[in-house]
Amino acid sequence: MTIRLFNTLTSNIEELRPLDGEALRVYACGPTVYDYGHIGNFRTFLHVDILRRVLELNGVKVKHVMNITDVDDKIIRNATAAGLPIGEYTHRYERAFFEDLDTLSVERPEIIARATEHISDMVLLIQRLAAQNLAYKAEDGSWYFRIAGFPEYGKLSKKDFSGITDGARVDVDEYDKDSARDFALWKAPKPGEYFWETEIGAGRPGWHIECSAMAMRYLGESFDLHAGGEDLMFPHHENEIAQSESATHKVFARHWFHVRFLLVEGRKMSKSEGNFYTLRDLLLKGHKASAIRFLLTSVPYRQQLNFTFEGLAAETGAVERLRTFHQRLQSITPAAQQNEQLAAEIHRASQGFHAALANDLNTAEARAAVFELVRQANAAMDAGTISLENRTEIQKLLSDFDKVFAVLEDRDAEWARFALEWAEREGRLDQVAPEVKAQLSLSDGQIEALIAERNQARRVRNFARADQIRNELLEKGIILEDSKEGVRWKRK
Ligand code: AMP
Ligand code: ZN
Repeated sequence: MTIRLFNTLTSNIEELRPLDGEALRVYACGPTVYDYGHIGNFRTFLHVDILRRVLELNGVKVKHVMNITDVDDKIIRNATAAGLPIGEYTHRYERAFFEDLDTLSVERPEIIARATEHISDMVLLIQRLAAQNLAYKAEDGSWYFRIAGFPEYGKLSKKDFSGITDGARVDVDEYDKDSARDFALWKAPKPGEYFWETEIGAGRPGWHIECSAMAMRYLGESFDLHAGGEDLMFPHHENEIAQSESATHKVFARHWFHVRFLLVEGRKMSKSEGNFYTLRDLLLKGHKASAIRFLLTSVPYRQQLNFTFEGLAAETGAVERLRTFHQRLQSITPAAQQNEQLAAEIHRASQGFHAALANDLNTAEARAAVFELVRQANAAMDAGTISLENRTEIQKLLSDFDKVFAVLEDRDAEWARFALEWAEREGRLDQVAPEVKAQLSLSDGQIEALIAERNQARRVRNFARADQIRNELLEKGIILEDSKEGVRWKRK
């Protein structure tokens, strides 16, 4: 199916095809590794994950590059305060970031590019701009991009910068959102600061030049799609376009993909508002990784998502419903006759699912199509009217669904335990909800031993002991289900 996607640059919904006919070349701005990732960050990374998974489901190969910003003002400030070299300081947050991506079942990009490992690419790009008089060196040794030399400045964010003052400058990473100033490509070191000795002088790169240099290094001077959160549109992406296109005289990225910001309880997420959550905060409160993934991808990327705990509870239920349905479907005895009405419903759901995703990644409609089928198929299972062929078709749709949404496999307990162990190592056990501590106090082996003991008690008709074990497990968040095939257990 052809995938159509909104392009910020043209404000149109356009077909997405690899320019080279082979792989769709994607650059997505990655994290600045100075702290743990918050759920807003992950909303953006998750929608980039949905994009690549939808492309793959439709047979499009993806070459996806993500940068790690491992040097910037905040990193230098924090590392200095912690008395650590910046590499040591950023390493722990980079590792945590990838652990968080794994927790949320985010596929790894093909290429991860660290800023500190691409300094020479950045220096070369600055030299290329300087050769055209589009970069200049200030008195302190910093280099700036001359935006007056790029008349198309503002074309992505649709801001009008016709009154640009040549030479007005900004030298920090924390930019003024509305004015256009010459921005730093290279920053001369302040006393005591970390720096690289290079052909353009001592210093360290500005944030924007990183992404231009690394995108071009791995994807070429022109590539297919550039992604990030909506806050990056200006000035970051606007500046990336200005530097790259002035250097190469080619279109930098053909397609721009921006994910709308996440709100929490109706407000902008911020530490001072007390509504700021990292992924780890939520895991320690006892929320499931699968439900967090499902919630953060539930609303299409161009619409605002308002995160609430009620919403998260609803998603926990939705994931549960899907998993139960999936298991139930596997265990039925199929009816001899094909259920024609259900077959038509499966067909409709499948078409609706694929069409919704191909239409600007409409995750909400794609989910709705599948949930409607779950309702219909549950009714058919109650009536015992699902044939082998019906079942195979539903399973195929569920498999496609899961290639994109990735919530069927239950690894939630594993991730919860992972977060708990991290909290223990970091001395953060006071942040762990009591029921989470209780739930995780039993290992799988211990649970199975208790179940075996309960089975034995039942065999000798010691029902009091059997009930006692069931209750003991329940208190620790372990639910037992007695079935014909034996006892199944799951964590709440
Ligand atoms: P940072 O580590 O701050 O550079 O951000 C990493 C990514 O998360 C960028 O693509 C940001 O645009 C994105 N981002 C930051 N805050 C939010 C938010 N509240 N909602 C959605 N995306 C966000
Ligand atoms: Zn970037």
